[in-house]
Amino acid sequence: MVTADTDPKRCPLCGQPNNCRAETDPDNCWCHRVRVPQELIDLVPVEQQRQACICLNCIESYNDNQSAFKLSLRTE
Ligand SMILES: [Zn+2]
Repeated sequence: MVTADTDPKRCPLCGQPNNCRAETDPDNCWCHRVRVPQELIDLVPVEQQRQACICLNCIESYNDNQSAFKLSLRTE
């Protein structure tokens, strides 16, 4: 797992673009309207927390099926 470069535009969990607008348009980013479960944030490596937003896709999959989502993170 490569952690050397933290891209704030990519989800730290799945590596896909998170579509976060925290840098350009913070007040209107979807991430301010969605409640991210603390347990989901805890799955992000500490050095990447508050650096990159978790994407909406991951939040929805997590809410949908937490155990399956956690398993999907351990495929390496
Ligand atoms: Zn994601």
